[in-house]
Amino acid sequence: MEDNKQKKSGFVTLIGRPNVGKSTLMNHLIGQKIAITSDKPQTTRNRIQTVYTDDRGQIVFLDTPGIHKAKNKLGEYMVNVAEHTLKEVDVVLWLVEPTTFIGAGERHIAEQLSKVNTPVILVINKIDTIKVQEEILTFIAAYKDVCDFAEIVPLSALKDKNTDVLLEQIFKYLPYGPQFYDEDTVTDQPMRQIAAELIREKALRLLDDEIPHGIAVVIEQMKERPNGIIDVDATIVCERDSHKGIIIGKGGSMLKRIGTAARMEIENLMDTKVNLKLWVKVRREWRDSDMYMKNYGYNPKEI
Ligand code: GDP
Ligand code: MG
Repeated sequence: MEDNKQKKSGFVTLIGRPNVGKSTLMNHLIGQKIAITSDKPQTTRNRIQTVYTDDRGQIVFLDTPGIHKAKNKLGEYMVNVAEHTLKEVDVVLWLVEPTTFIGAGERHIAEQLSKVNTPVILVINKIDTIKVQEEILTFIAAYKDVCDFAEIVPLSALKDKNTDVLLEQIFKYLPYGPQFYDEDTVTDQPMRQIAAELIREKALRLLDDEIPHGIAVVIEQMKERPNGIIDVDATIVCERDSHKGIIIGKGGSMLKRIGTAARMEIENLMDTKVNLKLWVKVRREWRDSDMYMKNYGYNPKEI
């Protein structure tokens, strides 16, 4: 904890229409492929936190569940969360395509942003697709008056071009303060929890009441390939060998049914193809062990 007074820390949210490159930018900023966000804003039920740490301090990225017009109760909840997030964070990053065309979606985002005092950095992404670099000036000119931007940063998330400038600009607007996470933290991975919960739910439903003492699900690994497919390796943990047999089923039939049902739901949620691999392990009395409970995503104090 040396030099805390010199370090900055704060919250940043990344907004923008689907496919503008939010996940790509996040992945490049944190340097690993684990920031899994969905292209459907409605599917991100809660904020996803990704953490970037360097000598200057720490940036905690929150994923807003999309700024869109509410269509139902869940939609309303999302819009509320989004509006709250915009107020609470220290910096808003708004990603746009390199174009002078500003559509209704962008205008709607600008309207939401005009309601808060949070500094907004406009990120013009995908500049690697522009042939004449001077064109960037026309995009900047088109956007300049849409919103009161603190900074405008053209970059390429995919080619990792100018992302260092973006980090510099973000740090400029963060307050000095203590770090919120260990420096090796990259994400709190709520997507993992959601995936684990979905697998558990499918297993319990398909197994009926055959497993009296329940099961836990551990996500061993969850990675997004460059083509968007997500590989998920998960283990179903049960208490007895006899339970393991039931979960696997004849010739693996039950495990296959659980896997297929869970995979379809995870695909739906993340809006991409998922390659799900399931294993079954016996851990006797896992529910009596604090260590196992924590390991399997439960906080014993909350039960
Ligand atoms: P999101 O929906 O905003 O999260 O967008 P993604 O990060 O999933 O990116 C959507 C598509 O745009 C993917 O095919 C990316 O490879 C592509 N993409 C993202 N950033 C860039 C960039 O800087 N340049 C180019 N050429 N493509 C990009
Ligand atoms: Mg995405």
